[in-house]
Amino acid sequence: MTTTTAPMTSAVKGSGYGRTFNFSAGPGVLPEEVIRQAQHDLWDIDGTGIGIMEHSHRGKTFDKVLAETEEACRKVANIPANYKVLFLTGGATSQNFMVPANLLPDEGVAAFLTTGYWAEKTWEESKVYSGKCYEAWDGRATKHSYCPADSELKWGAKPVYVHMCSNNTIYGTQWRNPDGSLRLPKAPDGAPIVCDMSSDIYSRPMDVTKFGMIYAGAQKNIGIAGTTLAIIREDLLKPARKLPTMLKYEVHAKDQSRHNTPPAFAIYMSGLVFKWILKQGGLATLHQKNVEKAKLIYDVLDSSKFYKGHARADSRSLMNITFKTPSEALDEAFLKEAQKHGMEQLKGHRSTGGIRASTYNAFPREGCVALAQLMKDFEKKNG
Ligand code: PMP
Repeated sequence: MTTTTAPMTSAVKGSGYGRTFNFSAGPGVLPEEVIRQAQHDLWDIDGTGIGIMEHSHRGKTFDKVLAETEEACRKVANIPANYKVLFLTGGATSQNFMVPANLLPDEGVAAFLTTGYWAEKTWEESKVYSGKCYEAWDGRATKHSYCPADSELKWGAKPVYVHMCSNNTIYGTQWRNPDGSLRLPKAPDGAPIVCDMSSDIYSRPMDVTKFGMIYAGAQKNIGIAGTTLAIIREDLLKPARKLPTMLKYEVHAKDQSRHNTPPAFAIYMSGLVFKWILKQGGLATLHQKNVEKAKLIYDVLDSSKFYKGHARADSRSLMNITFKTPSEALDEAFLKEAQKHGMEQLKGHRSTGGIRASTYNAFPREGCVALAQLMKDFEKKNG
């Protein structure tokens, strides 16, 4: 059987790297070697003469894909044996109901740290399950421009879990220490932290044992849309109420993410990305690269009177960099200019406007250099 591959250089002018600089907030840019491997395996994986998307999810080939994917996933973050690794469907958004359905008893209390758009959605959904939940932090009044210090958190009744979002994709803020490493809130009475890590998972080192549960839609840093990674401590698997089968983490754990037909291709893609991360040197190396990439752009913001960043300096995201020019008209002109230079998907989210540069793991450093240069040139012309 012959294999065919599409040419890997597109006719993109301007970027100078053979592809468009894709600043999309998600689905986001994938590593080139992952795409190349997938191109091959779409046609014929492991010499079976059958493409990855055509294999039975119960067959030997997919058994191997799933086993290797989980193994690499565990290795990347050193996930201990008492945590289950699940590949779910329904996006991170479905965790807004799955988490409380499983973890929050009727009229139980969970606490929410509302640091952005997605965290707002998570909080809203919890009310379906209990009227006793509360927000220990509400960042709406400060336009979600930072992640709070422990001293700012207002704890009430003891929560069964605390929900946080480690990186706020739309506002461009991140729970971080000055060096960009992960900072966690101090949860009261050892309550487990449940973390939406959709937009910064596997972008920096993390200690899984500090969490009760981590979840993330795969389509930014660890693959493509279609699967949601959930890492859950075993003692949290038991559902807090009577639930339909497909809603139970316990069932997905027992059946190793194959209670029904799983999103096989998305899982396979995550596997390739996990292996790519390991090849890069793991999370510490990626973090260092991400710090350097983001610095190229934040340095321009800091030396400019023209651009205004949204995030407070101590909460700046290394994944999503949000800023505005002095007017909406100039924002538009900036985006047009960027396109001329092979840079796409820089428009801010519809709820915030402005400009957003997403610089996930697979985003090339050259793209950050190019954007920083464009920002300087544009300011000179328009400032
Ligand atoms: N949480 C965060 C932090 C996100 O960035 C997103 C998507 N941009 C979501 C949740 C929702 O994810 P999904 O579209 O996979 O449901």
